[in-house]
Amino acid sequence: MTSPLVDSPADAPPLADSDVRLTDGASDAARVLRRVFGYESFRDGQQEIIDHVVGGGDALVLMPTGGGKSLCYQIPALVRPGTGVVVSPLIALMQDQVDALRALGVRAGFLNSTQEFDERREVESAFLAGELDLLYLAPERLRVDATVTLLDQGTIALFAIDEAHCVAQWGHDFRPDYLLLSELRERWPDVPTVALTATATPATHTEITSRLGLEGARHFVADFDRPNIQYRIVSKKEPKAQLLALLRAEHTGDAGIVYCLSRSSVEKIAEFLVANGIAALPYHAGLDARTRAEHQARFLREDGIVMVATIAFGMGIDKPDVRFVAHLDLPKSVEGYYQETGRAGRDGLPSTAWLAYGLQDVVQLRKLIDASAGDLTHRRRLSAHLDAMLALCETVECRRTGLLAYFGQQRTAPCGNCDTCLTPPRTWDGTIAAQKLLSAVLRLQRERRQKFGAGHLVDILLGRKTAKVIQRDHDTLKVFGVGTELGEPEWRGVVRQLLVQGLLAVEGEHGTLVLTDTSADVLRGQRTVLMRREPEPAARAASTSTGTAASAGTATSAGTAASKGTRSRRVAVAELSEEAMPVFERLRAWRAAVAKEQGVPAYVIFHDATLREIASRPPATLAELSTISGVGEHKLARYGQQILDTLAE
Ligand code: ADP
Ligand code: ZN
Repeated sequence: MTSPLVDSPADAPPLADSDVRLTDGASDAARVLRRVFGYESFRDGQQEIIDHVVGGGDALVLMPTGGGKSLCYQIPALVRPGTGVVVSPLIALMQDQVDALRALGVRAGFLNSTQEFDERREVESAFLAGELDLLYLAPERLRVDATVTLLDQGTIALFAIDEAHCVAQWGHDFRPDYLLLSELRERWPDVPTVALTATATPATHTEITSRLGLEGARHFVADFDRPNIQYRIVSKKEPKAQLLALLRAEHTGDAGIVYCLSRSSVEKIAEFLVANGIAALPYHAGLDARTRAEHQARFLREDGIVMVATIAFGMGIDKPDVRFVAHLDLPKSVEGYYQETGRAGRDGLPSTAWLAYGLQDVVQLRKLIDASAGDLTHRRRLSAHLDAMLALCETVECRRTGLLAYFGQQRTAPCGNCDTCLTPPRTWDGTIAAQKLLSAVLRLQRERRQKFGAGHLVDILLGRKTAKVIQRDHDTLKVFGVGTELGEPEWRGVVRQLLVQGLLAVEGEHGTLVLTDTSADVLRGQRTVLMRREPEPAARAASTSTGTAASAGTATSAGTAASKGTRSRRVAVAELSEEAMPVFERLRAWRAAVAKEQGVPAYVIFHDATLREIASRPPATLAELSTISGVGEHKLARYGQQILDTLAE
């Protein structure tokens, strides 16, 4: 596609202006929802927000990924006179976003640095002529005076600030260009502004409000729960094998994202998966822009690609059918974890968020924080973020409860769809183990003036006569061999949990372990230490043999039942019947061909959920087809007959 403004191919009837743009009040929003988007009803919160913005109000919208934020500004932009200006940092995705809108018959365009002069001119003149419903804008465009002048000359229906958390320095994804956005309020005080984000702790929330000058805005905070995502956090043993077992047992042929911390591990894991017959691609900032764009496009356009990536990948990716997000390294914050895992299952179908973490992650991240450039406040902030993430990993309570509490949302009942709910970990009194380990640290420090990392300490406790032990005469220490009641993985678990509880600390670039102010309480027996039992053999079994069963039946239905009991949110759809399956596959093949021909992602044509519904209750007429969710007027006119033909085959 050369220009976002080239009209739809000839087989699509052009929509007259009045078809999309309706102007007689709030009920218009419902009509646009039905006619343009093909949806029957609003989701929780959408209607209130849309009514408020249509009426000219400012809004701050906090809604989880997949909650349906886009409609909250797209519909008001269609209902109000003028163009909705959407500020988004996601330049690489603007083309897809605009294509998706144009596939609905909405007049959309974008302005960013990737465009040729001519393309930009075309968008600008369409805007000035009042022929755009939505204009996507990269924030750095606002540095250019010409952009501001342009906006001054047109009619603006509203400003939408997407990924609004990028304005917050407290958050995890700060973009300096977002600070320019404060000028919008000053320059166009009468244009309603809606800021939207999927990640906001109370601190970030407050910062967004003040930096965007939205003190007078109404706040809409949706339920942050993503009931269809199953959260699982396991301890890292052989990460590659653990990952492969997960993919083979539960996610064969599924699209997913695997996050790693470093570029080199991205490369290694991608190669490993490919060698094992999985369609995986690497993505990190070290690849040249063309390769990155190509890999991203393949991930979006093809079915079943696994993207192995650093966190540079994924923001704003609105691929609805990402079935799993796996982390092979510990995210630096709960906000980051929530946002990254949130990329799974936007379509509401069951999805997995799986994280493997180990002692080394903790040591590594602590070292990075110590070595980081910022001032003390900055380092404290990073450290606080990490502590919260670790607390989530080591909790014996429901993961979802912990996650939501971090975003200030309380829930009382456990979710039934996370690992701690499904296979409750037991706690054990680890006081004696803690005393043994801490006293080993203490003795080395006092008696020998030496400090060591976890590996050597564990060797000492297990009574292993390694070269290092012999050479340093550590087999004469009183603690040598006193810890044989636990194995090495358990001892590493003890170290990790002491670190998380602040009873032990990591120091310096070698990651040596030292006592903290509170260690003495444990050593003196004034404090008991509860620990999470490593669900070792059980976890291994779950990830191989019982894995499939769990994902197909037990686990999901347990989760569904529990979430039904406690909340009213939409729940995953049922499996397709045996007759429907081949129909669904045929529709997917048809969709793939159409998408390829147009050079757009498959979901731009129709979502999986829509094709599933068509396959489950095949319509005989266009009128019947139009009642299916996701089939709006434009798509009905354009693809309706082709769908009926495909069904008739
Ligand atoms: P977000 O931006 O909050 O992550 P999106 O706006 O991309 O979420 O919406 C997520 C998915 O839900 C999209 O596929 C969208 O088309 C769909 N959706 C949004 N609102 C509705 C609705 N009222 N009815 C049915 N589907 C909806
Ligand atoms: Zn739970």
